[in-house]
Amino acid sequence: MAENKIKVDFEEETRDPFGGVPDAPDTGLIDEDRPAWLGYAPGIKEEDVTAAHECDVLVLGAGIAGISAARAAAEAGANVIVVEQSKSISIRGKVFGCVDSHIHKELGCETDKMDLLNLIMRRMGWRPNARLWKMWLDESGEAFDWFEAPAVKSGLEFGQHLQYWPNPPKYDRSRELFPQYCAGIEFDDWYGACKLHYNESVAHGAKYFFRTTAAELIKTEKGIMGAYATAEDGSLLKFTARKAVILATGDYGHNKEMAKALCPEFYNTLGLVASKWSTGMGHKMAIWAGGMMEEGPHAHISHSFPGSFVMGTTATLDLNANGDRFMNEDVPGQIFTNQIIRQPFKYAWQIYDSNWADMLDNQNIAHGAIDINLNSPEKLEKSFEAAREGKGWNMVAADTLEELIEKTGMPKERALESIRRYNELCEKGVDEDFGKRGDRMYALVKPPFYACKSFIARGMITGGVVVDEECQVLEKDTWKPLGGLYAIGNTGGGRYYCDYPVSPVCATSHGTAVTFGRHVGMAAAKLADR
Ligand SMILES: Cc1cc2nc3c(=O)[nH]c(=O)nc-3n(C[C@H](O)[C@H](O)[C@H](O)COP(=O)(O)OP(=O)(O)OC[C@H]3O[C@@H](n4cnc5c(N)ncnc54)[C@H](O)[C@@H]3O)c2cc1C
Repeated sequence: MAENKIKVDFEEETRDPFGGVPDAPDTGLIDEDRPAWLGYAPGIKEEDVTAAHECDVLVLGAGIAGISAARAAAEAGANVIVVEQSKSISIRGKVFGCVDSHIHKELGCETDKMDLLNLIMRRMGWRPNARLWKMWLDESGEAFDWFEAPAVKSGLEFGQHLQYWPNPPKYDRSRELFPQYCAGIEFDDWYGACKLHYNESVAHGAKYFFRTTAAELIKTEKGIMGAYATAEDGSLLKFTARKAVILATGDYGHNKEMAKALCPEFYNTLGLVASKWSTGMGHKMAIWAGGMMEEGPHAHISHSFPGSFVMGTTATLDLNANGDRFMNEDVPGQIFTNQIIRQPFKYAWQIYDSNWADMLDNQNIAHGAIDINLNSPEKLEKSFEAAREGKGWNMVAADTLEELIEKTGMPKERALESIRRYNELCEKGVDEDFGKRGDRMYALVKPPFYACKSFIARGMITGGVVVDEECQVLEKDTWKPLGGLYAIGNTGGGRYYCDYPVSPVCATSHGTAVTFGRHVGMAAAKLADR
């Protein structure tokens, strides 16, 4: 196996190339409907431009969506420029959500696409753009194979594998509260695979301008013709696109005003924890050029894992800071987060006894659950052992339940009463309090006992600008494409509402970013010159 240590740098400092939000132009009019976060376009003047560049396709943002669009357009023969404000590509996580990839086919893992489409729509209150999800269903397998090809060709080892496959022996989708399809292909070295994806775009001629921040789109009667951007030295660059401009500038989770106004659950719970590059500039540029923000409620990606990843979302007893049980615990990770955000002090304890391994064969397989193909009881036991030795990560152990509760700091009498009641329900095999499946009720009886504290992980916001089923940004006044402007990844709307669903499929943030990026890149390359 070849050594593959590919390093991806991450910029540390932040820069504000505009010197703050420009003042409102003196129009003499007051626009009461204009949200404060939107500000005004800088109104860049042609005479201030110090250098001009031309291309067929201009991509703004070099995250996973932007790289995918750039590579697809370049492979289709377009001359591509990518403008990226930080000093490197942006990559995070490690799972690619798709269906019908070559890995799915080789393993015999099938998906009922129409069932899945309806499950996706149902999970988000029928708000998403079903045609965009249909595109993901139809093209994500091919997009995965394409994404992965440079990694396979390199002969390096990236450890890609289909999560939760084969399913645990007792898994039966028809009985699940949150039925799941196996979509997530996990990479042990996601960064390495993404770096080769980026290299492939460069090999096909895509030119990246790093440390260059897009500031305003160029709009003429022919449509969106390019963008102005500031270079690191403050000079102003003009990028003209003969065919199309693709916005792939990520989310707005680090923009305080936008997060507060558009996704209060994220703002109030997490403060500003998204990447500092998530400024919402792409959204603002699109709206300044005539586009519109999609209706909320905008969803955020902020997982918390019961038991700090020890046993994942296994359906054991959860208690809040008051020592109270508060829900049916048989849920995937993001859904768990949605509930603990509403619990006192926004955390919960997951309680186990020494029969914990009994639960592994009979659990959900959604994001956050333990993948038993990768985690044997022997491997998991290391975390329990560490807790017994007082070295657990957010995890404590004790020989009695009384002692355990003392270590957590929960009110003792109340927490012990909650455990007594839970054990009583387990004995009955019926959850009279929250309706958890009887076969997932495991009494806490065998010492030593364990408690793992759950926290909320770093997030981002997925709300985007309104696009059609080809990811073209629509104009507010006409609901027609703005002309040559696309939005993908977390800048494009239509995908997620209320909740970032990790069931019925997981990792669709990367899955849609690559699938839509590839689709749009290929389409843009075929457009006529303007
Ligand atoms: C810890 C963590 C783990 C995750 N794991 C997974 C996972 O395993 N699977 C999954 O599907 N999802 C995962 N996600 C979510 C997923 O990683 C993101 O939603 C996805 O990477 C977003 O991609 P993007 O290309 O839309 O945006 P980004 O990756 O945010 O890229 C946008 C780029 O645009 C640049 N940019 C912004 N404004 C400008 C401007 N004005 N000019 C020039 N450049 C600009 C930014 O600097 C950035 O490089 C995870 C998220 C987190 C936080």
